[in-house]
Amino acid sequence: MYAKRITSLPPYLFAEIDERKKKAEDKGIDIIDLSIGDPDLPTPPHVVEAACRAAKNPLNHRYPSYEGMLSFREAVAAWYNHKKHVSLDAEDEVLTLIGSKEGIAHSAFAFLDSGDIALVPNPAYPVYKNATLLANGIPHSVPLTDETEFKPDLDRIDKEVVRKAKIMFLNYPNNPTAATVEKTFFKEIVDFAHDHDIIILHDNPYSELTFDGYEAPSFLAVDGAKEVGIEFNSLSKTYNMTGWRIGYAIGNSELLKGLRLVKTNVDSGAFQAIQAAGIAALTGPQDCVKLDMEIYRERRDILFDGLRSAGMELKKPKATFYLWAKVPSGFLSIQYSMLLLERAGVVVTPGVGFGENGEGFVRFSLCVSKERIKEACERLERLDI
Ligand SMILES: *Cc1c(COP(=O)(O)O)cnc(C)c1O
Repeated sequence: MYAKRITSLPPYLFAEIDERKKKAEDKGIDIIDLSIGDPDLPTPPHVVEAACRAAKNPLNHRYPSYEGMLSFREAVAAWYNHKKHVSLDAEDEVLTLIGSKEGIAHSAFAFLDSGDIALVPNPAYPVYKNATLLANGIPHSVPLTDETEFKPDLDRIDKEVVRKAKIMFLNYPNNPTAATVEKTFFKEIVDFAHDHDIIILHDNPYSELTFDGYEAPSFLAVDGAKEVGIEFNSLSKTYNMTGWRIGYAIGNSELLKGLRLVKTNVDSGAFQAIQAAGIAALTGPQDCVKLDMEIYRERRDILFDGLRSAGMELKKPKATFYLWAKVPSGFLSIQYSMLLLERAGVVVTPGVGFGENGEGFVRFSLCVSKERIKEACERLERLDI
């Protein structure tokens, strides 16, 4: 009944955990879910207000433009100029997306023909690989390991694969490893892309989720980057707007044209009231972001200390709302996640769900209150594995 492209998708590894979690909840067990990558903090009120106002305007009830409102794209360009020192032409170098996931997935259709190779980090956000498969492309795994601080080792990618590769996905600050990079890393990537004629698709939704003075660079802040790639960003994580579905792609205008062409035939743009909310978020007061980062930082410190006391091995992340911890020796990541669920009522994400190279790790998220994080830590300490 189904097309091969969907039967070829890898199995959903979290299904069994989801099921056991549900069973435990049905039994009345108090579950602390540290597997969710979705802010529990509210969208700032001034953003909600802007959306309500715009929703009442009948002009916004009609089809939006495919590429998004110019005013939204101008807000993105101004924000990127201010925050990331990247100058963008709002007309040609910014494209509104219905969440960045939408643009990432459609990019595979814009840039890959059947059999084309995509370089896909492993472990990674599953969309890079799965969208490649849906577009009948060939995902080639680029390992992210502890030894290289979860950065790709470009020299170790098979030369023949590099020669043939059409696109490369990247994501820093990284989900799930919480790894961060400096601008020099992106310089290497831009050289690599130039040398081998590879399109770079950098996914940057955690660009503002940073701590301890670290600032996450944009890929586009490097000279020559705009010639070889685009960057995706989103209001989802920065402004607690995952449910609103609003993001954007920026950078090379020709590449964006390709993505726009796919979108023109699949969707009809983002609701303008939501773009109005996006404008309010990007151009309004930014102290709400600062306050939220202080909340995440406090949670991070509590969870980091708690996991260390429980005997786990991990690094303190400079960005994202994830902690990436080694599973105790003798366990596979799924086994260890099951054990935490069954014996402590704590749900975490097994690393292998992000690719084979995620094996040996689990991901904890910071999207529950500090009280619940403290409780989770106490339970883990009592477990004594
Ligand atoms: C959350 C997330 C996204 C999706 O963001 P949306 O804009 O909500 O679609 C994209 N990439 C990564 C790595 C994420 O963690």
